[in-house]
Amino acid sequence: MKRLAILGSTGSIGHSALAVVDAHPTRLSVVGLAAGRRADDLAAQIARYRPSIAALTSDDDLPALREAASKAGTITTSGADGLVAVATHPDVDIVLCASSGTAALEAVLAAITAGKSIALANKEVLVMAGALVTKAARARGVPLLPVDSEHNAIHQCLHGRQPGEVTRLILTASGGPFRTWPASKLEHATPEDALRHPTWQMGRKITIDSATLMNKGLEVIEAHWLFDVPADRIEVLIHPQSIVHSMVELKDGSTIAQLGVTDMRLPIQYAFSYPDRWEAALPTLDLTRSAALEFASPDLDRFPCLRLAYQALRVGGTMMVALNAANEVAVDAFLAGRLPFPAISRVIDGTMAAHDVQEPATVEIVRAADRWARDHARALAGELELKV
Ligand code: MG
Repeated sequence: MKRLAILGSTGSIGHSALAVVDAHPTRLSVVGLAAGRRADDLAAQIARYRPSIAALTSDDDLPALREAASKAGTITTSGADGLVAVATHPDVDIVLCASSGTAALEAVLAAITAGKSIALANKEVLVMAGALVTKAARARGVPLLPVDSEHNAIHQCLHGRQPGEVTRLILTASGGPFRTWPASKLEHATPEDALRHPTWQMGRKITIDSATLMNKGLEVIEAHWLFDVPADRIEVLIHPQSIVHSMVELKDGSTIAQLGVTDMRLPIQYAFSYPDRWEAALPTLDLTRSAALEFASPDLDRFPCLRLAYQALRVGGTMMVALNAANEVAVDAFLAGRLPFPAISRVIDGTMAAHDVQEPATVEIVRAADRWARDHARALAGELELKV
């Protein structure tokens, strides 16, 4: 029996993770649940899974939660400390980090120190503090298992290979809802347009990141940290069908790909079962019924966010923190209807240009760079606001 803590249990990945638990009730149990919001949803999960500990990190009203917790015998906590308490609970074997944004950084580091296996669905943690997180995991001998579908695919393709055999990592990207839109039309793209993702059902922030291709940029950085491969050996390939989840090119010219249905339960189950494999809990891929598989190079002129991410990785240090923080601010402003779509990359570009890069040796340095970049990006976003 593997015992789980799920950070971000009420989000899209959290729900998929609990569906994997439902499919394998004799192999998985839920010890801890943490959510940033949706107290009612968390209360229902507590009633159903009866975890030992649960945390709601927001200040939402808690009566329903308290009632569910007292019936289930669950200890509840709140705030950032609650996240750490769930991630480091002594009965937990695997921590699934599926919360959005950067809130879980300290909890992931604490879980590593406590010797927990980490299943990582949140890419911001690695983008902000990849050096700190990978160093801590290596020092403690703790596995970092990627749940992000592309990295999960690469993890599978790399299984049993020596680093010297690998020449390139090839991350596939659906291209998002604006793949075929001309630049002139992108200027008028609305949040509703951007939230219509063609192949994946995901949270709002990541869906906008897919529309700008920043999601793929963050994934390039994530791949760098997870697999220790430099930027110039990580490529992005647009693949609108999202069936090939990613590929690895080997030095003898072979390319190994992982294919599967577009359902996050697949990579989540892999991370939970690793190094074993369990039977599939959902219909498998039928290639005879799929459309033709297409591949193309990304257009960095229409989608400059991807170029900015490569640039941040090449500069290194806290430039990746600045990229990520400015992106979060710009995406929030776009979703709130305050910023036009092309201004997202301008806010990030301007923040990076003004950023004074440091070596991210401690969490405090990372957090300080994050705060600086958010303030700077907010000011830039204010200047670029839609004048209605
Ligand atoms: Mg992905």
